[in-house]
Amino acid sequence: MASLTPMMQQYLQLKERYKDCLLFFRLGDFYEMFFDDAVLASKELELTLTGRDCGMEERAPMCGVPYHAVDTYIARLVEKGYKVAICEQMEDPALAKGLVERDVIRIITPGTITDGSMLDEKENNYLLCAHVNGDNCGIAFVDISTGRCSITQLQTAGLADELARIQPAEMMANEPFFDQAGMLKTVQQRLDIKPGHCSVEFDDVDKAYAMLEANMSADVLDYVSKEEMPQAVCALASLISYLIETQKTALANIGGIEVYHIQQYMILDAATRRNLELCETMRSGSHKGTLMWVLDHTSTAMGGRMLKSWIEQPLLNINALNERQEAVEAMANQPLWKDDIKEALSGIYDIERLMSKAVYGNINARDLIALKQSLGRLPRLNELALQGKAARLKTLGQRIDVMDDIYTLIDKAIADDPPLSVKDGNIIKDGYDQSVDELRDISHNGRQWISRLEQQERDRTGIKSLKVGYNKVFGYYIEVTKSYYDMVPADYIRKQTLANAERYITPELKEMENKILSASERLVALEYQIFADIRDTVVGHIKRVQQTASAIAELDCLCSLADAAIENHYVRPVLNEGQRIVIQNGRHPVVEKVLPPHTFVPNDTLLDNGEDMVCIITGPNMAGKSTYMRQVALIVLMAQIGSFVPADMAEIGIVDRIFTRVGASDDLSTGQSTFMVEMTEVAHILHNATAKSLLILDEIGRGTSTFDGLSIAWAVIEYVADPGRLGAKTLFATHYHELTELEGRLTGVKNYYISVREHGDDVIFLRKIMRGGSGRSFGIQVARLAGLPQDVIDRAREILDILNASDINKKSISGNILGVKDRPKLKLKQQMDIFSYKIDGIMAYIKGLDVNSMTPIEALNVLHDIQSQV
Ligand code: ADP
Repeated sequence: MASLTPMMQQYLQLKERYKDCLLFFRLGDFYEMFFDDAVLASKELELTLTGRDCGMEERAPMCGVPYHAVDTYIARLVEKGYKVAICEQMEDPALAKGLVERDVIRIITPGTITDGSMLDEKENNYLLCAHVNGDNCGIAFVDISTGRCSITQLQTAGLADELARIQPAEMMANEPFFDQAGMLKTVQQRLDIKPGHCSVEFDDVDKAYAMLEANMSADVLDYVSKEEMPQAVCALASLISYLIETQKTALANIGGIEVYHIQQYMILDAATRRNLELCETMRSGSHKGTLMWVLDHTSTAMGGRMLKSWIEQPLLNINALNERQEAVEAMANQPLWKDDIKEALSGIYDIERLMSKAVYGNINARDLIALKQSLGRLPRLNELALQGKAARLKTLGQRIDVMDDIYTLIDKAIADDPPLSVKDGNIIKDGYDQSVDELRDISHNGRQWISRLEQQERDRTGIKSLKVGYNKVFGYYIEVTKSYYDMVPADYIRKQTLANAERYITPELKEMENKILSASERLVALEYQIFADIRDTVVGHIKRVQQTASAIAELDCLCSLADAAIENHYVRPVLNEGQRIVIQNGRHPVVEKVLPPHTFVPNDTLLDNGEDMVCIITGPNMAGKSTYMRQVALIVLMAQIGSFVPADMAEIGIVDRIFTRVGASDDLSTGQSTFMVEMTEVAHILHNATAKSLLILDEIGRGTSTFDGLSIAWAVIEYVADPGRLGAKTLFATHYHELTELEGRLTGVKNYYISVREHGDDVIFLRKIMRGGSGRSFGIQVARLAGLPQDVIDRAREILDILNASDINKKSISGNILGVKDRPKLKLKQQMDIFSYKIDGIMAYIKGLDVNSMTPIEALNVLHDIQSQV
């Protein structure tokens, strides 16, 4: 260490404190990285790796980025999951005696980004902390770009699903969390993040609470009870201490802690969220093709974020839902008035994030103008909301604080079109501050003085081309060109000689310069000071702004739902605490929008906890089974966020959870077989569903042999249809036509099929759901439509005929099978259908018998064996 240069020693001391970060070390106009950081950053950012003398024999590897472009480099590193510590010069290098003092002023991690340009405006960016203690756990999470902070306490078993909903950008957890191997795996795969460890300090709830009390104002902690949610308090303390450590600034934008209970919301597990494509599609993770894509007509970023959270957290409380519905209806019924609201909303910036920027001191004068313009919309918005013919709209209207005082303050003080930089002046309006006006007057008049002096000197000397100029080195000077040298008066002091001219000063000029320059310097400093004061005053009102922002966001969401309802011809569903789901002419909200207009075929639904508990849906591939089932799930979900729904009529008994088990999920990365994944999901559903849940089961049992699969599917239906065991409303799509035999044998099971019509060799999809079981599967016709070679199609048809002739229902071994020309071809058939597979086995068995050596009794026993197999 001793042999290192003093600056390198300073660097290494800082690096020692921020080992897990890339240290951006400010050196003049650059941020430099050294040693391993430099090697890593040069790779990740494609920067040239150079070296710097550091006092040792070898030069230290180094790379750097210019300070003005630092944001994009930080963004790229953080996006890749790195943490970046920003080390600044704490004093002006020009004034520093010896080594410039430096310190880390902020750490930027994926969960602590505040810079709007690095964030998706319609998504929250959460930093989350989980604290597990046996079966109980607590979580705390915050979006520091908006100041929203929430905590909850829940069962550890439900943690993975809750994490999947919140989708934090960064998380930490205590030791016991890491002992739950399954959970860790889920987190890493589903969220694609590597959890960090919390310090053990806050394992003790009393210490945790004391820490919170010491760092947050009492009203923020109003609803936080260490008795009721000890683990959540531990998690919150870890979260807050991490924020203090990384942000190094007040937590002023956390205006309150929202305490919620997952029981308030419909529970959707991670698989269901994915399957229903709420906010991203399964295949590409894109926005287009999701429910959010259909419902999002929001005008503000805040509304967009809130709508996403509504979609992800459907409600169970009918009163709250009715309030939302009533508001949506009022807006949908008065489109002109609704459009006025939209108009007012559309001029509102992301004031939630602007306020956080202000708290972190990153706001500029233009941001304040954006805030002012947003506030300028509020009186109109408030007036419009209060006119609303719905209780919720009135409540929201009342919650909008128009904040005249803040508007007026910014309006009076801040120039209408200020520069980006807050340190170059021209921010404060004339007439706001006397000292600013005076200084401005001097620096402005200074220019006049100078031109007056110029004229005066021209007259005095008779030099027509005499000019007064300014440069940074000499300040103001008088310039005289060569041909007039002899006319220069004696009191001019020569300062500089150029090729064609000489530059002079006079005492009078210097005195004037002093006044002017110090005035503009003082002016810039004063303007910044006033700006900072106004910023702090505004920050002092953060709670009012946040409360208003949340009312604005909700108005925006309701408006958005009204727009979606009008555009797509939705109806208001009737909600009740009953058990029925009745839908007339329901449509799939997304599929109907991607198909050509008016081509989507609507379908009815009837489910209850009695006669119509389980619908078994058959029909060929591509008939529309999964579309239909998802449509029902989505309609229920939409109803429970307060939205109108794509149907002619809907009556929805509130559902506590929706479960889906759809298709083969591509969980290959876990190393589990598809069948294992499928069964794990089914197990999860059967363990967690209640009589108030809605189950969507698609092709259960497909991943194994036919008899296994059929048996499992059969047993699952028995279980879900039995009120003594589960008794939950279920849509069950299947290829196993045998399952249609359950209707009549099991109460609550009804058969449906999605109809198709044969047209010569083709099949026409009618997309209409009908009562009854479908007779045939039309797989070959579909294969033909898909373009399989004609001879494969012909051969398949030939085999199918043979197999049909040996249908299980006929309960006999048909002789036709022997008619197949040569045995090897039967191998294809073995894969295709288990029934013939069995027959093959029996044939082999018969072939292997030594009939000549059998007693009649043995022969009878064999016959009995065969009979029991068919
Ligand atoms: P299945 O699950 O029976 O194999 P899908 O539900 O995947 O069939 O539907 C196949 C395609 O049929 C869908 O991609 C969609 O384009 C179309 N489709 C499904 N249902 C309807 C409908 N009710 N009206 C019009 N087209 C539909």
